[in-house]
Amino acid sequence: MVDEVGRDGADGGYETVIGLEVHAQLLTESKMYCGCSAQYADAPPNTLVCIVCGGFPGALPALNQAAIEAGILTGLALNCDIPAFCKLDRKNYFYPDLPKGYQISQFDLPLAVNGHLDFVSGGAQRRVGITRVHIEEDTGRLVHRTDASGVEVSLVDLNRSGVPLMEIVGEPDLRSPEEARDYLMALRQILRYVGVSTSNMEEGAFRCDANVSVRERGCPLGAKVEVKNMNSFRAVERALRFEVIRQIDILGSGGRVDQETRGWVEDRGLTVSQRTKEQAHDYRYFPEPDLPPLVISPEMVSTLRARLPEMPGHRRTRLAERYGIGELEAALLTAEREVADLYETVAATDGTDRARQAANWILNDLTGLQRARGLPVERLPLTAQQLQDLLDALDAGKLTGRAAKELLPQIGEGEAVLTAAANLNLLVLDEEDVIRGAVVETMEALPAAVNDYRAGKTAAIGRLIGETIRRTGGRASPDQVRRVLEEELSGQ
Ligand SMILES: [Zn+2]
Repeated sequence: MVDEVGRDGADGGYETVIGLEVHAQLLTESKMYCGCSAQYADAPPNTLVCIVCGGFPGALPALNQAAIEAGILTGLALNCDIPAFCKLDRKNYFYPDLPKGYQISQFDLPLAVNGHLDFVSGGAQRRVGITRVHIEEDTGRLVHRTDASGVEVSLVDLNRSGVPLMEIVGEPDLRSPEEARDYLMALRQILRYVGVSTSNMEEGAFRCDANVSVRERGCPLGAKVEVKNMNSFRAVERALRFEVIRQIDILGSGGRVDQETRGWVEDRGLTVSQRTKEQAHDYRYFPEPDLPPLVISPEMVSTLRARLPEMPGHRRTRLAERYGIGELEAALLTAEREVADLYETVAATDGTDRARQAANWILNDLTGLQRARGLPVERLPLTAQQLQDLLDALDAGKLTGRAAKELLPQIGEGEAVLTAAANLNLLVLDEEDVIRGAVVETMEALPAAVNDYRAGKTAAIGRLIGETIRRTGGRASPDQVRRVLEEELSGQ
């Protein structure tokens, strides 16, 4: 029995070969071939359906321009060629949640081909070839439940039917389950940067099927096993590790791995056989007669290319170099495009100090508050302007560090930082009289410290400063308190 698979996926002379196919839902307003809303998450069942996505005979599809653009943008972000000509094809099969009896997809002439994705895994730079990116449509959903009379029923909800989907097929260049996970995370990050998909795995907006095979080093590839039903990055890694070990065990005991489709069962931690090659689908693809082929002009490609943002890998390196922050910090700050944008807006205003300061505040205080509030990862609790004002107030001595941390969670949406600080009495006191009053009170309250100081133990001033600040509710600046204290202590 093999217990562990090495980072390179090799164990006992075996080599692991993994290729991934990802389906990502596209962030368009309407569906792929009709005008129905594609935002189906909270809609009551079957309320976002028309004759097209409902599969009525004779209904004519119309292509969603935004979905085509999203597919091309993705292809460009993944370094693909965009062929000047592509077409749509019917993929025929029966399933109760597929009312037409076919999906409109792309078969032999996809939107984008021949690209690659560079990513980091286990500290090493890796590259996976991208075979193709094509567009298609999602199916409806089956809801299984027990009705009032105790009968088990399956209901069809067609709200998801026709939602724009993009398939990204990678080359079998991955050599371990960890690498597969890191590739998926890098791909997801790119789709989010380009803004074409939320790529939320738990909500089904980013789904992955894996082809896994194991071979003895130097031997031809073994039978491919397709693994499905993985709903998180962790599930992908666990399912692949299970599958690699299962195949090595079979080969090691002289057996033969069958070509089949297996489903990952999360709570049991194993894959089970779903379909063998003999039962494999023949989709009988043919060109979609109701939609014209697409001619993609070089002008369209260059216009879209100009819309691409800086890619996360490049941005990570640039931020580390330009702002003098560590690689880990740069990786965390560029995890989401919106956070990186906010960081750069604040960091670019001044020298390295502001860049470091902004990185610390974002990675510690703002992210902490974001988690506490349950905000989405791309939405920090402050705007760039608010963070900038907060740091300016700190630098100008209008806020103490302590007051700034106390203020942060109380800044309202769109509220001016200084207004919020003033309303909460958190601004540094600059009325000399008030501070002098607090100093005198402190000296009366701590005569021993006063005597110590006057006897030459000057370190005692620390206690007096701390107590004075406490008496002002943390609003006096330590420098000003020290100055007034020194005056009062030497004045007698
Ligand atoms: Zn529709």
